[in-house]
This record gives sequence, C-alpha cells and structure tokens, in this order.
Amino acid sequence: MDPITRTTRICTRPATLLRTHHVHNQLQTAAHTCTRHRADTQRDWPGRFQPTPPDQACGHATDHRPYPQALAHHIELWIRPAYAVALPDTPDTADWSAVLQECLHAARHAGQPRVAAALIDAVHHAGCMHRDPAAARAVLLAVAAAERAIAGR
Ligand SMILES: [Zn+2]
Repeated sequence: MDPITRTTRICTRPATLLRTHHVHNQLQTAAHTCTRHRADTQRDWPGRFQPTPPDQACGHATDHRPYPQALAHHIELWIRPAYAVALPDTPDTADWSAVLQECLHAARHAGQPRVAAALIDAVHHAGCMHRDPAAARAVLLAVAAAERAIAGR
C-alpha cells in the first residue's frame, strides 16, 4: 500500500519541522510544518517534532496507515466533532459510503457548502474503496479537503 500525501494547510513557507508518529517502529504519519504553524500539527497529529531540511512546503503530510484506519481516524478527529456523526465499529468492513453520506447531510444542514462539496467527492469514491486503492486515496484526499474547509485553512 502506498502512503497518501496530502495538504493539511495551504502555506508557502518551507517546513522546518517534521512531526512523525510511529507504532511498533512502523512509521504511521509524517507532517511537515513551518514554525508559525507548528501548533496545527501539535494539536492534530500524534508523535514528536524533529528539525527537517527545508525541502518540503509547510502543510505537506504523508499517511502510511491502512486506508480504512486512516479514514476512521480523520473522521473521528475532524468530522465527528463538527457534525456529531457516528463512527463505524469496524473500519475495515464499514459501509463508508453510508458514513460519508451522513457527514455530507450534516455539512449541508450546517450550511457549509465548501465542506459539502469536498464530501460529495468522498461519497462518490467511497463505494469502491474496499477493492480499489485509487478510490480509497481519492476518498482520503476529499476528506482532507473537507477538513481544511472545516478548519478554515
Ligand atoms: Zn506554515
């Protein structure tokens, strides 16, 4: 499974810090940040900071976790606090279309068109995500766009 690279914040500064999180010596997530936006990463990402060469932009992150687990974590961290949607008990076999449809409904009800637009994309790809890695990546990128919209980044 390939890691998913995404943008957590639009910022043109070079990253000077890298926040990495490992479980049993396996890299789970890596997030690049500039010093100004360090607090974003402290709040949203587990792990530890280390200095990094300025060869990546701030807001550049890679996720090495299995797709369903990454998606469940994103929804728990971002979508659920905003819209109080239920999380599935078993991410690996969950009906992600139904979960994301509920998130979309909540975003529309809250009058947040930018979030809703991103979630329409997520719902569109979610039906195939258990058998198609490209669809799973598209879902995660769409959910990342929804998160940026929720955070106003
Ligand atoms: Zn920044």
